[in-house]
Amino acid sequence: EDTPETSTRHDDDRLLGGLLSPAFDEHSCRSRYTSSLYRRRSPFRPSTYLVERLRRYEARHKRCGPGSALFQEAVEHLRSGRNAARSECQYVVWTPFNGLGNRMLALASTFLYALLTDRVLLVHAPPEFDGLFCEPFPGSSWTLPADFLITDFDGVFTMWSPTSYKNMRQAGTISNATAEQSLPAYVFLDLIQSFTDAAFCDDDQQVLAKFNWMVIKSDVYFAAMLFLMPAYERELTQLFPEKEAVFHHLARYLFHPSNDVWGIVHRFYEAYLSRADELVGLQVRVFPEMPIPFDNMYEQIIRCSEQEGLLPKLGQTVVVTAANGSSVVAPSTKLTSILVTSLFPDYYDRIRGVYHARPTETGEYVAVHQPSHEREQRTEARGHNQRALAEIYLLSFCDRVVTSAVSTFGYIAHGLAGVRPWVLLRPPSPVARAEPACVRSETVEPCLQALPRRMCGAAEGSDIGALVPHIRHCEDVQKGVKLF
Ligand code: GDP
Repeated sequence: EDTPETSTRHDDDRLLGGLLSPAFDEHSCRSRYTSSLYRRRSPFRPSTYLVERLRRYEARHKRCGPGSALFQEAVEHLRSGRNAARSECQYVVWTPFNGLGNRMLALASTFLYALLTDRVLLVHAPPEFDGLFCEPFPGSSWTLPADFLITDFDGVFTMWSPTSYKNMRQAGTISNATAEQSLPAYVFLDLIQSFTDAAFCDDDQQVLAKFNWMVIKSDVYFAAMLFLMPAYERELTQLFPEKEAVFHHLARYLFHPSNDVWGIVHRFYEAYLSRADELVGLQVRVFPEMPIPFDNMYEQIIRCSEQEGLLPKLGQTVVVTAANGSSVVAPSTKLTSILVTSLFPDYYDRIRGVYHARPTETGEYVAVHQPSHEREQRTEARGHNQRALAEIYLLSFCDRVVTSAVSTFGYIAHGLAGVRPWVLLRPPSPVARAEPACVRSETVEPCLQALPRRMCGAAEGSDIGALVPHIRHCEDVQKGVKLF
């Protein structure tokens, strides 16, 4: 029965506790309001303050975004080559770098940065990135217009770029005393892996705040860094009272697979996974720089599974005595489906073969599926990225998730799901044994793998992982940190 109360409750679920705006047309982006139906209910709830800030952000995006008069004005200033003294709208442009997982971590971080600094987030979407996601902000667009002033992002934004913040600081061309109108029209924040000494002191932020245009290039989850800065501490505590769910909320708000990608997800799920009583996700990522041989990796997966009780155990066929005295195979109705994602088909082949050949201890049935095996990473190809995104989503529907150490692809999947994964640890060398085979992560948050060498205010050589209470070192990357 649809009483007003149940329909409010339904709306609350559909909009993820207010995280999503109700203002979208459902058909233009079918995943937005339906993907949560494929998952267990999230254990986390967005704070009312986060919800309020998102609605305020959306209003600003609409006022300042592409197509608005204020946007035109800001582009004119950009064209002039000089920063405007006072501007109602400030922008941060995100430009993609590295694989899809890295991109999503950096994009979510850039959005959080935009929220904190009252900037409007725009996305430079080259063809291979275009069409992966729906527009996240109602009544506007986050995509830079095709005729935008800057087009050659890869050429302009490099570590040698003269408008890189780091380079300008080092050259002494800007300081905290520089007046707004004496600054260049934009600043480039170079936050890729080795960004280490970049821009996360309060002093830096005061200078950066003067620029109306900022471009960020990153491949890491630098959102975690913002939690180390005193200037944002109060605001972040209000936005995210549960530190473990920062990426979970940001990702569920921002990332909605386009209808094309959702088609892949939806069809695969309905055809192969929807009838499972239990869904186990297994993401096997073998990195080129750590080429673990198949037998070693397979052994590690099985050792992890046995240690943690993850995949159904093999056993003898359970035989029971029927009423008439004859022996029959005990009936089971349980179906466990294992979703394997990997660039290679070998793990899927072996695991499926094993369950094919022998029964399980409980008599439950096991189905094993893998949507694709692309063999190699091809970040420059749109179709490849669409399949990768679809698989990240499918993994995020699993009840239990086993991921590979260091893989940002895995981070996104368990982050979206809101589950703590079992992480297959990286061995010291490709042929060495990882000990233990895996550990259960203590948080849903992704790892910030690259840390600055030092933090402002902290003594040189001090352990950043120990500086603030809600940060700790990652299970898979010792020098990295994560929120919990
Ligand atoms: P990371 O390198 O594991 O941190 O993850 P990234 O997502 O940044 O880069 C790896 C890329 O390789 C992905 O984006 C995909 O393009 C591809 N890839 C890796 N593993 C898989 C997989 O299991 N399935 C698919 N479809 N693609 C994958």
